Amino acid sequence: MSNHTSYGIGTNLIHAGVEPDPSTGAIMTPIFQTSTYVQDAPDEHKGFDYSRAGNPTRQALENALAGIEHGQYGLAFGSGVAATDAVIRLLNPGDEVIAANDMYGGTYRLFEKLFVKFGIRFHYVDMKDPENIRKAINSNTKLIWTETPTNPLMNITDIAAIAAISKAANVLLCVDNTFASPYLQNPLDLGADIVMHSATKYLGGHSDVILGALIVNDKQLRDDLFFIQKSAGAVPGPQDCFLVLRGIKTLHVRMDRHCENGAKVAHFLRNHPKVAKVYWAGFEDHPGHEVAKKQMRNFGGMISFELKDDSAENVKRMLTSTKLIALAESLGGVESLINHPATMTHASIPREERIKNGLSDGLIRLSTGIEDVEDIINDLNQAIG
Ligand SMILES: *Cc1c(COP(=O)(O)O)cnc(C)c1O
Repeated sequence: MSNHTSYGIGTNLIHAGVEPDPSTGAIMTPIFQTSTYVQDAPDEHKGFDYSRAGNPTRQALENALAGIEHGQYGLAFGSGVAATDAVIRLLNPGDEVIAANDMYGGTYRLFEKLFVKFGIRFHYVDMKDPENIRKAINSNTKLIWTETPTNPLMNITDIAAIAAISKAANVLLCVDNTFASPYLQNPLDLGADIVMHSATKYLGGHSDVILGALIVNDKQLRDDLFFIQKSAGAVPGPQDCFLVLRGIKTLHVRMDRHCENGAKVAHFLRNHPKVAKVYWAGFEDHPGHEVAKKQMRNFGGMISFELKDDSAENVKRMLTSTKLIALAESLGGVESLINHPATMTHASIPREERIKNGLSDGLIRLSTGIEDVEDIINDLNQAIG
């Protein structure tokens, strides 16, 4: 029942792409832990010949991904960065990409350290104003890469406005939808060509799997990405696909609680006398609030903040003083995680570049989990001190 968007969001998350197993009736898609498939003849098989090219568990996940992002085709990869890597492999030397100047550090590292040497050029612009993108487009531009809300500054980019610019210039638009998840935002509906996910985060939701995804509507684009997936081989194993399939079924209930807890924690932090600034698009005075309200269904559980005493010692003291909230990279799991972007998730961005784009040395990022919110707030309160 893939692509049954006539159902409600929750129903779609539970049922999209999955069918009972035809051979046994198992309601959960089995983990097809097999590398190869016995064929009837050299040119005849039952739809699968080798698990790098296709696997039934992966196929169920790919159909589910398509269904929940309102797309025609889903492709699963061994990680989020492998999915991003596949998109850039669509390009040729001499092609140019316009990317957000505030985004996941690993995306920046992949672009700069692995693709620049193959002759692909990246321009980083402030995407809060779509005009900056229009101005950066030239005849070599082939792709616009954006992320919203951004990691870690929670900036909002207007997907529909950027899609209008990309369409007029005949340039592909890819949106990293990891922070919002398909429950809060569907970029294909707003005109994007490709949606990318680190399914490691909210889709998996339990901090137990690394997996990436791409979702598209265009058949040729799907075929080109499938060729890269099969030829470069960055595919996830069936057990990992199963875990993400299972995670997707509770995305709506988890996400509702992430949003509810996130709102309460954001307000708590904002009212705390020792907190200088809180970054969260749910605040009415957040510069992207109106756009967020237009393109998202809620504001999510990711929050960044700065302490008034942002000395290295005090920031480190706070980060190592939480008892419930774990100091760790990653986000989107059921448990709350705290992170120091400057030395952890975004350490691969040169300091000068980081500071210029507003990512200070003292910035703290919180992935609000779905524990009892009083416990999260009490823990933050005692750690802030
Ligand atoms: C984690 C993350 C990625 C990379 O995904 P992996 O699954 O870790 O490879 C990409 N984009 C964003 C926004 C992320 O948070």
